[in-house]
Amino acid sequence: MVPLAKKEIVWDLSEMFPSTADPSVQKAIDDLTELTEKIAARYRGKIKDLSAQELLECIGGFEEYLTRLDRLATFAGLSFSANMTLPDTQSLRDRVNKMRAELEKMLAFFNIELGYLVYGKPGIAHEAILRNYRHFFERFAKKVPHQLSEVEEKLVIEKDQFGINAWRDLRRVWLNTRMFEVEVKGEKRTVSFGEANGLTYNPDRSTRISATESIGDVLTKDGEIFSSALRSICNDWLSVCDRRKYDSPMEASLIDNDVEQQTINNLLDTIENNAGLFQRYLRLKAKILNLPKLGGHDIYAPIPDASDIKFDYNKAKALIIEAYERFDEDYASAVRDMFFRNHIDSTPRSGKADGAFFSDWYEGKSGYILYNFNDALFDVYGLAHELGHATHAYYYSRGQTILNGSFSLSMAVAETASIFGELLLTDLLLSRSQSDQEKKSIICSVLDAAGLNISAAYCFRFEQTLYDAIKRGEYLDFKTMCRHWIGARSKFFGDAVEWLEETQADWASVPHFYMPNFRFYNYPYIYSQVFVYALYQKYLEEGKEFVPRFKKLLSAGCSISPVEIGKIVGLDVTDPHFWELGLKQYEHFLEELEKIVV
Ligand SMILES: [Zn+2]
Repeated sequence: MVPLAKKEIVWDLSEMFPSTADPSVQKAIDDLTELTEKIAARYRGKIKDLSAQELLECIGGFEEYLTRLDRLATFAGLSFSANMTLPDTQSLRDRVNKMRAELEKMLAFFNIELGYLVYGKPGIAHEAILRNYRHFFERFAKKVPHQLSEVEEKLVIEKDQFGINAWRDLRRVWLNTRMFEVEVKGEKRTVSFGEANGLTYNPDRSTRISATESIGDVLTKDGEIFSSALRSICNDWLSVCDRRKYDSPMEASLIDNDVEQQTINNLLDTIENNAGLFQRYLRLKAKILNLPKLGGHDIYAPIPDASDIKFDYNKAKALIIEAYERFDEDYASAVRDMFFRNHIDSTPRSGKADGAFFSDWYEGKSGYILYNFNDALFDVYGLAHELGHATHAYYYSRGQTILNGSFSLSMAVAETASIFGELLLTDLLLSRSQSDQEKKSIICSVLDAAGLNISAAYCFRFEQTLYDAIKRGEYLDFKTMCRHWIGARSKFFGDAVEWLEETQADWASVPHFYMPNFRFYNYPYIYSQVFVYALYQKYLEEGKEFVPRFKKLLSAGCSISPVEIGKIVGLDVTDPHFWELGLKQYEHFLEELEKIVV
């Protein structure tokens, strides 16, 4: 019997525009261009002299620009992601990208002049009529001392294009044009990096080992290319920090993420002091996988029979809605709304972007989710995660103007509702699970996901080690970098994991290390994970009383700092012992797992 074809779940973008070819799209582009020209003509060179009232109007104009751009860019970006091979979607994306670049150039004066105004007249941020933007201005003012002159800034952009960005591009192109020999369940195959990397998570252990060895061999053979690229990027960053007068290589990232150095030091120290806790899980996982010790290639391996638990899309939908409703009926509104308005594109198909993401649409008061749903437990979690982002957007778009919504949401808090949503789902799934086997799969998937975020701690230490080494005058060739990598890694994993020799070069394949002018990418992931675990502990302790405060927290967007956001629910992230509260939640899951693994 031929199985019935599944109904394709495709999103409905017509709330933004009827279609990519509709004349209203071009009209919106023309109108936005006209608005931008008006803003530029009215404010260029004049921002530094604006009164509080005039500044409020100016920001209002800028927010109008952002809102209209948001609709166009979201529509073009999503149309393309859903059907990347259609000429219509390609050309619209191209047109909108070009328009955006032009408009951003036209408004480049805005950031510079606004920076000088709020830095030069700090009192203006405290004027009552501007109170909505107080924190936005405070963040802005922190950036001003690090700005260069306009000529220097232009020179940096020009030089970076073929300088430091070229090292990043070379590394990416080089890695993605190598071929990798992998034995997949005993059968020899030659595959791309993307495929080889995917095979390192294969359920079959010998395939994982073969893929890991093959990647390591290529990275080692071309080691000097990778070390040259990373050495240049790190050295360049130290020169940039010097020119821009940053106290440390991390300061720019702290300003961007709206967090304090001491808070991050406390976080990292807590993780490292509790490395034994994560190692305890890894030893248990070795037992589950029937191994004397876990290999590096086993850390995120699926546990046996995990793939037997299947969820079709409708079952996943019902489960997620129920999980969110159990927390609070009204809290599930955003999730129900996303399904009801067809704001999710979940069916995998050719020409559609891979992976998963949530994209904001401010005027729609939430956004859209792209997913490639494959009926696995992993997918139910993935969807619950993205719906958490939708919930966060649902609240901050209603609570804030666009500038205080997603516009500059700190990465430290951007994952709050998404990871919280995963925990709500876990709670429901565990209460329903029929067998220890099912429970094991659920808890392992939770601890693997948390571990992936938390283990970013050693990537963070590795990066820091590189700057320290350069400052000491050490020359970072390939072998030296491998030594630093192994050092950072073993501090985190101890003797709980055994590593193949080829993995000494794993750092070379981590794209985050090669992002020019955007350094220390990793710690916000650790922050979010442990922060949300602490939130969940608070919820378990307070029950329903926690709900309205949590909604208030999500509604705050980025109108206040992550420290203030914590305070809404009575958490003090600046307390050196704060992070231990989050680890208690991790330990709780671990203890539950220990009860069933004998
Ligand atoms: Zn996320």
